Amino acid sequence: MKRKAWINPPNSHLLKGGREGFQESISMKLEEDLYIYLWQDPGENNCNTYLVRGEVTALIDPGHLQHVTSLFRQIEEDGISTEEIDVVIVTHGHPDHVEGLQAFLEKPVKIAMNQEEERYLNGNGKFLFEMMGQSLPRFRIDFYLKEGELHLGEKILNIFETPGHSPGSISIYWREKKVLFTGDLVFYGGVGRTDFLEGDPRLLIRSIERLSRLDTETLLPGHGEIISGREIVLQNYEFIRQSFYSYL
Ligand SMILES: [Zn+2]
Repeated sequence: MKRKAWINPPNSHLLKGGREGFQESISMKLEEDLYIYLWQDPGENNCNTYLVRGEVTALIDPGHLQHVTSLFRQIEEDGISTEEIDVVIVTHGHPDHVEGLQAFLEKPVKIAMNQEEERYLNGNGKFLFEMMGQSLPRFRIDFYLKEGELHLGEKILNIFETPGHSPGSISIYWREKKVLFTGDLVFYGGVGRTDFLEGDPRLLIRSIERLSRLDTETLLPGHGEIISGREIVLQNYEFIRQSFYSYL
């Protein structure tokens, strides 16, 4: 039997959160210029969001549209005006990462995605929106993220094309800080599912192996807990190899 390695049930967005006093996500300032917004509500599907602040400020994965207002509020509470956001990056085109792009359509920000993922989003990727009873929302993509360097002012992020969970998934490596943003490729104790249209387990394994060779102190996944410490990151890759590869 094929084991599902996946964290977010497809219909969990139908379960409405917003319970009294419940914090949907927690925020943390991880480094001088790195803010993380970790989704907490297990009853509702949404992704983690990350913000790299600087001369050019980038937001990574805005999540579901309905949660962008509370995300913006948290960012403001961290003393950052959302007007500071210059670039919005999406790791891949699944609704729980990309839908919130709509909140930026009229804003003077640059929106970035992998070109292959844009093709997917306009093709098979739109069925995931239809599962949610929506048609594909209108998106604006200003530039493509491809294998290589992305310069945010003085900061350099390395973009890795890491297909498997979706055909144009990317991961982002911030070499200077040894921080790796993995989208839905690698989680703490898990990997992204590959059973959606155009998911590919062989490519997923190849992508994970590529990332596992990067010197990583902090792994920031698209869902769930962050992984801190080089040894724990390596242990997590080893756990994934042993627990998931033969089932994929
Ligand atoms: Zn996904």
